[in-house]
Amino acid sequence: MNPLTEFCVGEVVDGFRIEQIEPLPDLRAVAIRAEHQQSGAKVLHVFTATDSENCLAITLPTPPPDDTGLPHILEHSVLGGSKKFPVREPFFEMVKMSMATFINAMTAQAFTVYPVASNVKQDFFNLGEVYLDAVFHPELKEDTFRREGHHLTLADNADLTSPLKVSGIVYNEMKGAYSSPESLMYELVGNHLYPDTPLGRNSGGNPERIPELTYQQFRQFHADRYHPSNALIFIYGDIPTAEHFRFLTPVLNEFNRRPVSLTTPRQPRWPVPRRLEKEYPIDATEDTVKRSFFTLNWLVGNALDPSLLNDWEVLTRLLIGNDAAPLKKALVDSQLGTDVFFAGTWAAAYEQEFHIGLKGSEPDRADAFERLVLDTLSHIAAEPFPRARVEAAFQQLAYDTLEVKTLFPLLLLNVVNAAWPFGADPLPFLRFKEDLAACRQRWETDPGRFNRLIRTGLLDNSHRLCVVLRPDRELQMRADAAFTKKMAEQRSKLGAQQIAAIAQTASALQAAQGVPNSPAALAKLPQLKASDLPAKPQHIPTNVGQVAGITVLRNDVFANGINYLELCVDLAGLPVELYNWLTRYTDAFNKMGAAGQNFATIADRRTACTGGLWSNTTIWKHATDSSRTVRQMRFGLKTLDDEAEKAFGLLGDLIFAVDPRDRDRLSDVMTQTRAAYRTTLVNDGLGTARRQAAHGLSREAAIEHLFFSPAALRVVEELTGNFDKHADEIMQNVERIRDFLLRARWTVSFTGSDSVFRTLTRTLEQWATRLSNKTIEDVLPAFQPFATPPREGLAGPMLVANCAKVMSAPHLAHPDVPLFELGVYLANFDYLLPEIRFKGNAYGGGARYSDALGVLMLYSFRDPHIVETLATFDGLRAYIAAQHWSQTDIDRAIIGSAKEEQKPIRPGAATGSALTQHLRGDTNEQREQRYAAMLRATPIGVKETLLRVLDANEARSAICVVSSREKLDEANQKLGGNSLSVSNILL
Ligand SMILES: [Zn+2]
Repeated sequence: MNPLTEFCVGEVVDGFRIEQIEPLPDLRAVAIRAEHQQSGAKVLHVFTATDSENCLAITLPTPPPDDTGLPHILEHSVLGGSKKFPVREPFFEMVKMSMATFINAMTAQAFTVYPVASNVKQDFFNLGEVYLDAVFHPELKEDTFRREGHHLTLADNADLTSPLKVSGIVYNEMKGAYSSPESLMYELVGNHLYPDTPLGRNSGGNPERIPELTYQQFRQFHADRYHPSNALIFIYGDIPTAEHFRFLTPVLNEFNRRPVSLTTPRQPRWPVPRRLEKEYPIDATEDTVKRSFFTLNWLVGNALDPSLLNDWEVLTRLLIGNDAAPLKKALVDSQLGTDVFFAGTWAAAYEQEFHIGLKGSEPDRADAFERLVLDTLSHIAAEPFPRARVEAAFQQLAYDTLEVKTLFPLLLLNVVNAAWPFGADPLPFLRFKEDLAACRQRWETDPGRFNRLIRTGLLDNSHRLCVVLRPDRELQMRADAAFTKKMAEQRSKLGAQQIAAIAQTASALQAAQGVPNSPAALAKLPQLKASDLPAKPQHIPTNVGQVAGITVLRNDVFANGINYLELCVDLAGLPVELYNWLTRYTDAFNKMGAAGQNFATIADRRTACTGGLWSNTTIWKHATDSSRTVRQMRFGLKTLDDEAEKAFGLLGDLIFAVDPRDRDRLSDVMTQTRAAYRTTLVNDGLGTARRQAAHGLSREAAIEHLFFSPAALRVVEELTGNFDKHADEIMQNVERIRDFLLRARWTVSFTGSDSVFRTLTRTLEQWATRLSNKTIEDVLPAFQPFATPPREGLAGPMLVANCAKVMSAPHLAHPDVPLFELGVYLANFDYLLPEIRFKGNAYGGGARYSDALGVLMLYSFRDPHIVETLATFDGLRAYIAAQHWSQTDIDRAIIGSAKEEQKPIRPGAATGSALTQHLRGDTNEQREQRYAAMLRATPIGVKETLLRVLDANEARSAICVVSSREKLDEANQKLGGNSLSVSNILL
């Protein structure tokens, strides 16, 4: 059906007046805009016959009235039960039992959006029905507000003398967000660049202000904002528009149009730049050296003007697009800090910004930083940009217009929501290819325009904010003391009865979360049946062939003019002592020069002919042989048809001749690596906890731990701190790995055009002549299983906890796996998530089986609790033993699990997945067998399997909790003889 002939503009169909029909040839789509006459709801359908991943998203402009996080708390609560579906947490029930490829809700600076997507038509409408009812008819009970937002509780509700506290899911989530200097920087810049408009308020919620929000304000905000007249409904996919109209009409007919006011007040521009100095908390025992952050931030213009956006995207790539780009290079070379951060152009709602920042510095260098940025910008503005650099910047942007990424519908939604919620026409934003061509045309006729933009947009623009963020060892203590005092004051004003009431309400709130939805309530939710599922999992269409002794997979997936290549080199036979150096090799590959060219030249070649070129190390258990560890160095790139030959040439130069000998550059790279380790180990506290707990449970986990862990950071600290002593050692070992790779077995996966495949074939034939295929004796790094699985605490600068309990689990080929996975699914959604998130108010928690590492992990993150969460982990077995699941419960788990096997196949992800499956020996037949076994699952089978796995492995679980020193000490007092042995993440 072609919508161009289906309707005409002005026609009214099912209550919708068609306002505009526009072809979008680059998306192979047509845009249909319509307005629902009675309710005033606006619809934009991007119809494409070629994509079955349909998406529905309801967007509501919700500029925040204050800093209490009102839009964010409402976003959480709306999904907590509605008129047609009075189920507790219908959102999590639908996550659990639908085929959704995406289901979530997001609070942006000035709007809230509720998107769902599915590859299965009936499922798509089921999800849409639940979401529309949630948005327009949520229950918004006071308990939901208290749980999601904030409520008072006693530290121990059974002890009426214990201190008063605040809890709430958003409250804890935002405390987590305010823990890290990076996200604090983000909040500060947003708040202070727009001091006079709603854009300066915090839509997520400042934890200090969240407790001020009342239930009344919360309900009123919903009544004001969540009305169809204020709603923008975006639809994408291959279901005809008329069907969407028929589906939406009954919902929208319940409402009458009303006037909505949409204002987008602009921040008055400053006559002079401003500076803001703030502290962020670090632990009393931590070093403050090189821990300060600077950013320079400009408000550069109207984000609703698509041509301005492209100009800034191009200029940003010219200034900081790669390591050779002049502004980035000047900052790194200056040694004022360890690395560039917070750099780029992005929009805060309808205002466009440009940012550049530096991390790992000292407070007294802020002036030097600001001067250096401004001086460098003046120098850059004075010289014409080399033509090749501008070409490369345009080429980089072309990938954004062509690439069919995973969750493609969500990408389009984001593009539309860059304009639509602010009253601007979204269609020009969807014509990115034409826009980019126009931008290029402007540059061709006026080559000095980007130089001028530096002057007018940055150097002569006084709406500039410099933020200095420095570490403060006492800040957390002061904040904690102030909070304790405030709570004590509040408590002293309450009578014994009021205290008892707080304890009782808080316990009741907690207890209510533990009651599962009744089967009758659940039955109201629309759902697929297990019998509706496809009989087989989806397979990537792959042809396996040989080119000059190299195995080549060719994937037949539509790639829209982009070519994807991944190349794996088998690490079997790598000398054992070199495992420690693999991450230094990938650093060198990603950041150093090669084949006689320095890193800046190589960086320019990367941006000139690829849309990304990277390497990393991957480790999995083999899919059928439990004793085999598959270890691969993986390289990947994407490239356009015309650039493929050059891209393969660059990849070859790097693999055959990466050069770690530029000492100064290597020193900079090590400094950046150290900074990245320090940041990520803390910010991804759960990842740190998980790797630490797993490393004595399987050989694969041990190797991962070798690459990235507090122990790996110690090694990096030593190499960086005593660089002169270690430089030769680093260089030699990088070269040894480089030379080893030329003797090992190669496997290639490719998705893209025929002509590029021919180029690839020729390239591989050439490369093969330079490889020496020797059989190499394989020795694995020594694996030290835990003698006694440890209970560890890792202390770092953060306000919340991340807990992990990890145990061994069956190998992927074991017949238990399909039912075990269903059991883990049920344990996750029916026990761990309710206990840890709904009752415990952590941001997240659950269970996950990693077949790559052969472990099961129970986890929580951004969690206010430690002792309680560990007890929840320990209670899993008893919970499972007490369950009497019905076949309906099992079917829901089957549908929820099957979606992993039924996802849309997108070219980039398919290239990597096909390669992984091939190298692990995970054949289509095995995947089909596991899928079929899952479809046959019975309640008793699932229960017995999960109990069998827990009984065999749980006694030898390892525990790791990543949190603050204070929280760990506090937990240890309660844990008594079972305490955690605590050490620091950072030195
Ligand atoms: Zn949230």
